[in-house]
Amino acid sequence: MDDRPLTAPHWSEIVGHSRVVSALSRAVVADRPHHAYLLLGPVGLGKMTVARALAAALLCETQRDGACGACPGCSKVRQGMHTALHEIVPGGKSNTIQVDQIQEIQRKLSYRRLQGAWRVVLVDDAGTMNETAQNKLLKTLEEPPEGTVLVLCALHPAQLLQTVRSRCQKLSLGPVDDDALAAWLVNTHGAHAGAARAAAAGSQGIPGRALELLDMETAELRQVRLRHMIAALHGDEQAIAEQIRAVDRDLSGCADAFVLLQELLRDAMVLASESGARRIHADVDARVGQLQGLAPAHYAAWIDRIEVVQEMLSRNVHPGALMEDVLLRMTGRLT
Ligand SMILES: [Zn+2]
Repeated sequence: MDDRPLTAPHWSEIVGHSRVVSALSRAVVADRPHHAYLLLGPVGLGKMTVARALAAALLCETQRDGACGACPGCSKVRQGMHTALHEIVPGGKSNTIQVDQIQEIQRKLSYRRLQGAWRVVLVDDAGTMNETAQNKLLKTLEEPPEGTVLVLCALHPAQLLQTVRSRCQKLSLGPVDDDALAAWLVNTHGAHAGAARAAAAGSQGIPGRALELLDMETAELRQVRLRHMIAALHGDEQAIAEQIRAVDRDLSGCADAFVLLQELLRDAMVLASESGARRIHADVDARVGQLQGLAPAHYAAWIDRIEVVQEMLSRNVHPGALMEDVLLRMTGRLT
């Protein structure tokens, strides 16, 4: 599929799967990878990420223990332009891998390779190959061109012919533990700790599922934050107190809240101008268009003022006090 991100991940960027990762990494360091691997596990577990990390490690030009991310080899892998890396993915109406895709790769593999360099073929969703396609691929598995590593990814071994399976080294990926997943969501995807824990817990150890849940969790949290902030801007005393309390000792939370305020002010400007321009939070109700206690003429000035307040945050000013001052003034409680 075209929307898959192209990456040249280092082994250390993979969450979980340490047993498989260390086996593959050792094989690369020893310069003795198996000629064909079969990575097994459910959708979203990270099979193709592991496969790409293996490809990147083999094609990195500066180091053996995982892609450096910076050399010409790594950057070509990332741009999807490395001539020694081939990816076969299902396509067409049937979303399967066709025999002509296998033929095309075999044609490319028939070219002479650079002396000592590896060539890698990744087959995503290999289980979507019909018998003809699998038998075609079998030829390459039986007589692999020198210096070629094939990685087949599949949900279940039974999707593949016994003859194909037996030519591959099978590596099963297991679920990733919740703590590792939650830490990964926080460190790599910028998730809040609470949302990350909830997403990890519901994911059954599948990173792709955890990411989907995180998106939902984040969308829900965002709605709640928006509702509370809008209520505060409409002068709801309890909501104002809650906003102040929430950011009281939390610099980055306070900075986020000020960004949200600026976005709401921009949306209010858009609504007030009736220009029909797109709002940032188009899904929240239009009440944001009439901010109580604040005339539309002052919206732009407030956006600038919050910019200044943001700078004060970096100078160790008490976040709760800043938020209090801003909200009380914006709602006309303090002049
Ligand atoms: Zn590199």
